[in-house]
Amino acid sequence: MGPDLARALLGLVLPVACAGCDADDVPWCDACARLLSVVPWRCEQRAGRLDHLDGRAPLPVWTSADCVGPVRRAVVAWKDRGRADLTPTFRSALADAARATAATWPRRPGEVLLVVPAPSTAAARRHRGADLVGELARGVVEGTTGARLAPVLARRRGGDQVGLGVRERARNLHGQVVVRARGRRVVEGNRVLLVDDVLTTGATLAACTAALRDAGADVVGCLTLASTPVPGATRPRTPVALG
Ligand SMILES: [Zn+2]
Repeated sequence: MGPDLARALLGLVLPVACAGCDADDVPWCDACARLLSVVPWRCEQRAGRLDHLDGRAPLPVWTSADCVGPVRRAVVAWKDRGRADLTPTFRSALADAARATAATWPRRPGEVLLVVPAPSTAAARRHRGADLVGELARGVVEGTTGARLAPVLARRRGGDQVGLGVRERARNLHGQVVVRARGRRVVEGNRVLLVDDVLTTGATLAACTAALRDAGADVVGCLTLASTPVPGATRPRTPVALG
């Protein structure tokens, strides 16, 4: 077997380019890794659907990156192009984000915090072969003392969100996110932290929050991997390195 054929065969089983910037021979290069190894910051003001419109403050949402450039490319590759090899990278970014923000979440001493992943549609899980947001939530549990994974939310059938505008997304989601029957007992009277991959309009998190509050949970906030900047409103953030 010649070296070219060997490389071609290896390329079939191993990713050979950075998912963020196409750098050769690494799945995720050091320069792209630095984009996620940052102090998380609050991004809920970008997502209009998170406003309760009743005077209450919107749900606090922390994120580690603007969903632009290499981060956006990598997230798309991870979700839709089979780059499941990025799961440990993103999971550990969420663990770091949890460690950096845990002190700001309201908690009573010794209280267990339930970590709830935003639910994917069954079609998305089939397409991806995994519950990717569930993996991010595992990262949050790893980075949080006294936290427990509680995948209590489910999505009813009702179509994908791709290509829909803000209002259509919200309408599409209304009533589609539910707490599973056995999950109600788990969350009632407990504090909950939500986890999602990307904050865009906030429609998903608003639907998750409403379902959890209906079930008697106290939703303290949300951690996301990345957040989509509002066009023209804010420039991408300058990351501040962790540690
Ligand atoms: Zn890269």
